[in-house]
Amino acid sequence: VYTKNIYNGSREELVEKVQAALSDKRFQHVLRVEEMAIKLADQWQVDKELASITALTHDYAKERSDIDFLNKISEKKLDTDLNNWGNNVWHGVVGAEMIKDELDINHEDILNAIRQHTTGGVNMTKLSQVLYMADYIEEARDFPGVDEVRALAFKDLAASVGWQTAHTLAYLVGKQVKIYPGTLLTYNAWSVK
Ligand code: GDP
Ligand code: FE
Ligand code: FE
Ligand code: FE
Repeated sequence: VYTKNIYNGSREELVEKVQAALSDKRFQHVLRVEEMAIKLADQWQVDKELASITALTHDYAKERSDIDFLNKISEKKLDTDLNNWGNNVWHGVVGAEMIKDELDINHEDILNAIRQHTTGGVNMTKLSQVLYMADYIEEARDFPGVDEVRALAFKDLAASVGWQTAHTLAYLVGKQVKIYPGTLLTYNAWSVK
């Protein structure tokens, strides 16, 4: 039960809104991220209601059209460089504005964690680190090293953020796709020995 008035409704009502916005596959991912985020929150003394709301909404905007994101960038007067990116970057950074406007969630720590969930950030709160890691290590994720980084997230949260950032960056470089500058700043802040 939510008691903090961050979301004006019950968890079940929030789950319904998220479900309505997503394919079943992505909705199931969101529920697994919530489960992992609550476990990590427990481990790292993060508020579990914040962890639940943040995880449930983190991919709320993921299936929106490019036009929706471009309109929101303009409406909210966000950095015009965002126009040069795509869904991967938009669904967190611009998606946070949709969550604010459509779900009436105005808690800045939650919105910042969502903004940072794909690319990380130089300054990440514990909540932001918890979401970033929960998204990466939720139960159905399977990639080389996943068990190792799952264990690390419960032993040294900051080190696990560095691990994820380095591995994601290497993966993106391997695909020769464009790297968001924020991703590079996260790497320099969290992954460099
Ligand atoms: P999801 O929404 O649960 O699928 O996961 P994320 O929001 O964490 O990531 C979405 C996608 O963005 C993943 O495929 C990442 O590899 C990718 N991604 C992360 N950082 C960057 C970046 O700097 N540039 C590009 N092009 N893609 C990125
Ligand atoms: Fe995402
Ligand atoms: Fe992620
Ligand atoms: Fe996700």
